[in-house]
Formats: sequence, structure tokens, C-alpha cells
Amino acid sequence: MTAAHVVPRGDLIEHETTEFCACGPRSEPVKREDGSMGWVVVHHSLDGREVSE
Ligand SMILES: [Zn+2]
Repeated sequence: MTAAHVVPRGDLIEHETTEFCACGPRSEPVKREDGSMGWVVVHHSLDGREVSE
């Protein structure tokens, strides 16, 4: 199963594109364009900004 990662740009740390990144990302189920389900892993910026992209 593949997951897409939403990583804050220009953050203070290098994010790992895994569920076990140091920032404690959360996983959310998403429906893909082809109708299948996938996961998006939303990473948190360590300086407190919300991800807007
Ligand atoms: Zn992260």
C-alpha cells in the first residue's frame, strides 16, 4: 500500500516520508481519482505552522 506524504516546506527538520517520522504525522484515508482508497500522511511543522498545501 502506498501513501502520499504532505510535508511542510522549509521546516526545521528533515522529514522522513514514513509514518514514523519524528514529527508524529497522522494518517488519513483518502479516495483516489480511480475510486480506490489510499492514505495520506500529514506531517506537522515543528514551528507550529499549519500545512496549507
Ligand atoms: Zn514529518
